[in-house]
Amino acid sequence: MIIIKNADEIKSLKNACIISAGVLNYVGEQICAGMTTYELDKIIHDYIIAHGAKPGFLGMYGFPGSACISVNDEVIHGIPSKKVIIRSGDIVSVDTGAFIGGFHGDNAFTYQVGKVSPVAEKLCRVTNECLALGIAAARPGNRIGDIGYAVQKHAEENGFSVVREYVGHGIGRDLHEDPEVPNFGRAGRGVRLVPGMTIAIEPMITEGSCEVKVMSNEWTVKTVDGGLAAHFERTIAIGANGPEILTNWDL
Ligand code: MG
Repeated sequence: MIIIKNADEIKSLKNACIISAGVLNYVGEQICAGMTTYELDKIIHDYIIAHGAKPGFLGMYGFPGSACISVNDEVIHGIPSKKVIIRSGDIVSVDTGAFIGGFHGDNAFTYQVGKVSPVAEKLCRVTNECLALGIAAARPGNRIGDIGYAVQKHAEENGFSVVREYVGHGIGRDLHEDPEVPNFGRAGRGVRLVPGMTIAIEPMITEGSCEVKVMSNEWTVKTVDGGLAAHFERTIAIGANGPEILTNWDL
C-alpha cells in the first residue's frame, strides 16, 4: 500500500533527510586513505546522534552498523569493519539512514578517495547523473517505469550495467514502504506518480556485468565479476509541480 504524505509529514521526512544527507556531506570532508570503515561508521554514528536522530539502519533487520559502507566491487550493504582499510584509489559507497520525529531519511553517495582510475571516476559521475535523471522523471503524472527507464538508459548508453536485484523504495514512517522503485524499466509503465508520494531513488550501477552475489556475512552484496559498483541515493517527494529533493544538499 502506498502511503501518501501530507505537508506536515513531508516536513518531518525532510528533517530526517537533512541529517541523513548532512552526514554524507560531513563524510566527504572526513573520508581519507588509511581510515577503516569501522572508524568511518563511528564518525557517521556520532554525527547522527549529535543531531538528535537515531541511525536508521543500526539494528534494522539485524544490520550491525550505523551506515552501509561498500568498497570498490561491493555494491551495497557493506558492514563497517576494523579490517577494511580505505586506500587511495578506492571508491567507497556510503548509505546512511537517520530516524527522527517518526520518519526515516535515506541517502547515499559514492566517494572517490585519492586518485581513482578513469573508469572509477566515470562510473561515479554517470551513476550520479543517473540519479539526477531518475529524480527529474519523478513528476506527477509520470509512472514508476519512467524513473527506471531514465536511469537504465543513461547507465547503458555509457557502457555500464544496472543491478536488478535491489531497488529504490517508498519511504516515510517505515524505511521501506511501497512502491518498489527499480532502476530499470519501461517508460509509461507501473504505478502512477501523484503528489505526496515519497520515495528513495537509488541507482546501483556496475562497471561490468550486472550480476551480484551476497557474501557469507549474509549482508555485503558484491559484483560477481569483480567490477566496480557505485550507488547514489536521494529521498524525494513528488510535489504538485515536480520532484522535491528532501535535503539541504544539492546534487
Ligand atoms: Mg534506500
